[in-house]
Formats: sequence, C-alpha cells, structure tokens
Amino acid sequence: MTSQRMNRSKLRPDAPSDTQASSLRAGTHPHTPRHEIGAEPPSDCARCPRLAAFRASNREAFPDWFNAPVPSFGGRDSRLLVVGLAPGLKGANRTGRPFTGDFAGDLLYETLIDFGFARGSYAADPEDGLELVDCMITNAVRCVPPQNKPTPAEANTCVEFLARRIEAQTRLEIILALGRIAHDAVLKALDARRAAYPFAHGAVHTPAPGLVLIDSFHCSRYNTNTGRLTRSMFRDVFAAIAKSLSEHRKALSAPSSRRD
Ligand code: SF4
Repeated sequence: MTSQRMNRSKLRPDAPSDTQASSLRAGTHPHTPRHEIGAEPPSDCARCPRLAAFRASNREAFPDWFNAPVPSFGGRDSRLLVVGLAPGLKGANRTGRPFTGDFAGDLLYETLIDFGFARGSYAADPEDGLELVDCMITNAVRCVPPQNKPTPAEANTCVEFLARRIEAQTRLEIILALGRIAHDAVLKALDARRAAYPFAHGAVHTPAPGLVLIDSFHCSRYNTNTGRLTRSMFRDVFAAIAKSLSEHRKALSAPSSRRD
C-alpha cells in the first residue's frame, strides 16, 4: 500500500467541518446546494422524498424508535472507515447506531472486537458502551429504505454525505465497502471511475492516492445464510486490513535514513 496521503482538499475544496454539518437545520430543502452539505445529514433531511415519507410513516407507527438518518459511529481520526448499505428497519433505524440491532451487526461487531477495531461488549444496544478503535462505521444511504432497497437515485443523492464524511476524516487510510452498492458509492464519492475498480469480494483497489478500498460481500443474514459470505471469509478481509495498517505504521516509524 502506498504511504502517500490523499489530498482531500483537492477533491472537495469547499468541504465544511463537522460543526458546520451539524448546524444544518432540520428540513433541508431537497435541492440544497452542494457546498452547504456536511458530513452528517440533518435529522429531517428531505433530499429523498420516498425515504423521507417512509421515515414519517415509521415515526407515526414506532414513535419510540430513532427514525432519522443514522449518524456515523466512530472518530474522525480513524484510519479505517467501514461503509455499509443502509440502516435496517428494526436495526439501526430503531436504535440509531449503524449495524446495531440487526443480524449483520452481530458478525460485524464480533469481528471488529476480535481484530482490535472495537473494545467492550456488543449488546445490540447503543448504550452497551462499545467503543470503536481507529474505526468509523457509516452507511452509503443514511435513511432506512423500504424492503432494504434504496433506488439508484437515492444512493446517488446520499453520496454527497459520504463524500463529505470521507473528506472530514483526518487520517483515513482504508475504506472497507460492504457490498457492491457501498463500493459504487465510495467510488462516486471519490470521483473515481467505476469501470476501473470492479467490485469483487476481497479485492483491493487504490482509487485515490494514499487511500485503499477493500471490498467484501455484505455481512447480511442472506449472504451468511446462503454461504456467499462465511465467517472465515469475513475474517480474512479484516486480517488483510489489520496487516495493511500495521505495515503502514511500521513504515512511518522507521528511521528516516531507511526511507530515503
Ligand atoms: S438517504 Fe441521505 S440524502 Fe436521502 S433523505 Fe436520507 S439522509 Fe437525506
């Protein structure tokens, strides 16, 4: 992996800070200019009318649930960014934390803990005290879609937030895309050509200088039940990530005379 850092200011020179992002008021107009978009959407983001309507109906039906765009979880100084598809209705849309409360979260958080990217115990509850270590988790589409299926237009719209999320990360080295939709969203967020970086489980790409994109099949119930993604395959991906980060750290700490 190259040790060169990506210059994100070149990719998106007008990126606002997280603070600016959180100051965006609720009820943002569907056609909010790009320069006003932050890394985290406002709780009443209305850029996707179908998803906003679904959210409104869920708020009525399940008033105790989170029912809003699910914010990213983890630190902006993390070197690893995990990008999932979208919140599950009874998972993150209910609890308000990515992958928390649905089947996919069981395997993801277990693996993150095993590889040192999380500490504590995962109890499918945002109050479980679990902390991410050098890792952030976000979704390509921040609002729960009906039948777990965002339309291409919705993925295309929400990619603006993903782009800002990537820009806002201060030490980002690796993005793990869980599934093809997340993979495509990352490439779009980076303005990288999709044809140049085809999705494949375990594939490693360098779509921007100093930034590695690793693909995995999504750790969904369907994929694990059908054997498309086994626990061992998923662990292999995390082993590759941990090795890459460790090698990069060693390279940075080597005496400068050896890097000349
Ligand atoms: S999916 Fe993203 S862009 Fe669409 S309404 Fe939700 S937060 Fe806004």
